Amino acid sequence: MKISESNFHCSVFDYKKFKNSNLPEFVFAGKSNVGKSTLINTLVNKKKLAQISKSPGKTKTLNFYLINKKFYFVDLPGYGYAEVSEELRKKWKTMIENYLKNSKNIKIIFILIDIRRGLDNLDLELINFCNYYNFRIIIIFTKCDKISKSKINEQVKKIIEQLNNDKIKIIPFSSKTKLNKIIILKLIENAINKSNNNNLQEKN
Ligand code: GDP
Repeated sequence: MKISESNFHCSVFDYKKFKNSNLPEFVFAGKSNVGKSTLINTLVNKKKLAQISKSPGKTKTLNFYLINKKFYFVDLPGYGYAEVSEELRKKWKTMIENYLKNSKNIKIIFILIDIRRGLDNLDLELINFCNYYNFRIIIIFTKCDKISKSKINEQVKKIIEQLNNDKIKIIPFSSKTKLNKIIILKLIENAINKSNNNNLQEKN
């Protein structure tokens, strides 16, 4: 799939304020600094669609980007800032959970993990939440250009053991080498086609 058009659509704190006309949503989640903005920018071939390295104290919102006028990329605020108060952290958590529970259009939640750091409790909490609500999740290991191929394989094995689940797809990615960019776009395309087919079947 080629992304020919991508535009910032809106930022909301409360998902109910977002008027989606039932277009599919693809969500990107992960801790701050994991490379979320960079991944979105790489997928859409733009340098600054998603803002890179936002400062942690700023107000966090759900950011929607309209892609090819057909679907949305949704940038979730990076969880796990050490610098913010417990109260603010709770607010963000509630905002994210309300969104995930209320949207009917989420097709895939991409959970980004820095390959050098691996999983921690905050990532696991999100993964468990997504599994509980039956979301399709895909784990993206970011910054794979920073370690060797054998170390990448080691980290993939480790996470499969930690998750105790070999059904979750794990994709190593690098914005520098564009490793697996095409595969991620293909997964998005397939999910859109599947959703279109389901909609057609429902209508017939
Ligand atoms: P976010 O907070 O998750 O949105 O993270 P950013 O996209 O702002 O990235 C944080 C930092 O990591 C920036 O300096 C990026 O240039 C860098 N970065 C992100 N992805 C990669 C990658 O795949 N390879 C390398 N080498 N650096 C990356």
